[in-house]
Amino acid sequence: MTRLLFLCLGLLLLLVSCTLAGNNPVASTQTPVPEVGEQPTATLPLAPDATEPPAETILGEDTVLTACPLEAQQSAFRDDLTFDLETLEMDLCYELDFTLSTDGTRFDARALVTMQNGSEDDWPDLLFRLYPHAAVLFGGTIEVKQVLVNGEAVTSERVLEDETGLLVPLAAPLAAGEGAVVDILFSGELATEAERQERVYGIFARSENAATLASWFPMLAVWNEADNRWFDVPVLGEGDAVFAESALIRARLTGPERFDLATSGLIVGTEGGEGTITHEVVTGPARDLTMVWMEGYEQREDTIDGTLIRNWYRPDHEDSAARVFQSAREALALFNERFGPYPFEEVEIVEVPLHGAGGVEYPQLFLMAQELYGPRGDQQFLTFATAHEMAHQWWYSMIGNNINAAPWQDEALTNWSALLWLEEAGSEEAAERVAQGFERSVEQFEGGEGEEEISAPLESFRGRSGAYATIVYFKGALFFAALREEIGEEAFFAALRDYYADHRFAIAQPDDLLGRFEESSGRSLDEFYKEWGVE
Ligand SMILES: [Zn+2]
Repeated sequence: MTRLLFLCLGLLLLLVSCTLAGNNPVASTQTPVPEVGEQPTATLPLAPDATEPPAETILGEDTVLTACPLEAQQSAFRDDLTFDLETLEMDLCYELDFTLSTDGTRFDARALVTMQNGSEDDWPDLLFRLYPHAAVLFGGTIEVKQVLVNGEAVTSERVLEDETGLLVPLAAPLAAGEGAVVDILFSGELATEAERQERVYGIFARSENAATLASWFPMLAVWNEADNRWFDVPVLGEGDAVFAESALIRARLTGPERFDLATSGLIVGTEGGEGTITHEVVTGPARDLTMVWMEGYEQREDTIDGTLIRNWYRPDHEDSAARVFQSAREALALFNERFGPYPFEEVEIVEVPLHGAGGVEYPQLFLMAQELYGPRGDQQFLTFATAHEMAHQWWYSMIGNNINAAPWQDEALTNWSALLWLEEAGSEEAAERVAQGFERSVEQFEGGEGEEEISAPLESFRGRSGAYATIVYFKGALFFAALREEIGEEAFFAALRDYYADHRFAIAQPDDLLGRFEESSGRSLDEFYKEWGVE
């Protein structure tokens, strides 16, 4: 995400003399949506059929891929890139069936989760996360109505202090390599007055023109082999919340027909019902499926390097939307070239009311804060934040990291990436001025509070938004800029490309990133890392 506190950056950017973003709208070209039937489609009734035979207790190795067939999943990728999904060894398939209420404030849904234990440990039970139930950041509610494990009803338990955990018991531990199918019937209610709730972003909220649904389904927690336990940290009131493995997702998403849908993944089929519209979606490997149902939005599209960027905006925000669109196109092309190709067919950008965040990243989609749009919005911060959120497609979406233990691993690298965009799409001078602004903020902060580690866990910034923005975003970006100086262009960018190529679709540790720079430069950077408070 982009901290809104970052708005102080806007003041810095106002000093930048060059034009950071153009203002040339590009005509929208509607892509024809294939008829249902052209692609394999999911048929997942909302209530489990009691006459279905229970699934096998131990699944064959190909079961995840049987539930989420590769052929359909491949369509989420750019046409010019093919990935051998079989070699990615995906251990998780979500089949999701979702129906939004007519007023867009609540939903009923079913998740059929086919998994294989890809760890080396036995799993004693299964922990799912119901992130939107957190009173902070999300502010919604999730109710679980029924849970079946391999066809048998079980008594699940809501756990963690914020009730965002769903503990599902197993008749016997799930051994390494074994599989299970968990069938969860659930419903949710969106925050309807997110702007009045303290520390709630508006990412799971019904606003005037949109129903925004981030991370809305039960997501299997990440198994931590080092600690032999599930990742079970409650949602903190800072930064980001979701830490998840890449999964294959196929979804059947139904809403009132008056709404348009922006979603992670690719819509491969659409059909109308009685006052409703249903979209079939596949995501390819993705950590989340976030969507926005919206009314009365405009959109424009353009294809960059085989990826369609679709930008959704309010009709009175034409000018700001054009800036967002240009920044997004520049950033996508630049990061493709410098980091390695973004592999998916689409990335969507949607403006919605956000509170305390300038933007928030999701797989193949990101949200931008509506208040930055229009004549009163900070247009230069808006374009910087757009580049920041686009960079998260590499650092967060494609390469996952533990957002609690090491929030800097994606945020600092992402904010430096936005500086890189400014340097290339604006000018070196513009990027230098912003970097100097970061330096002044860090000096001022550390002059009063003392030095802090960039690589500190999110917990240590709890209730200290200012410290989080200054140390992780500003000092963190400066760290990467200094590292680039220290080891030179060639070694620096080679390290980033290798890091991306090796860890995309997976979860990387801080050492996976830091070690790359040592390898590419052929020297120890221990001292350098220590000086900067990174380990
Ligand atoms: Zn961010």
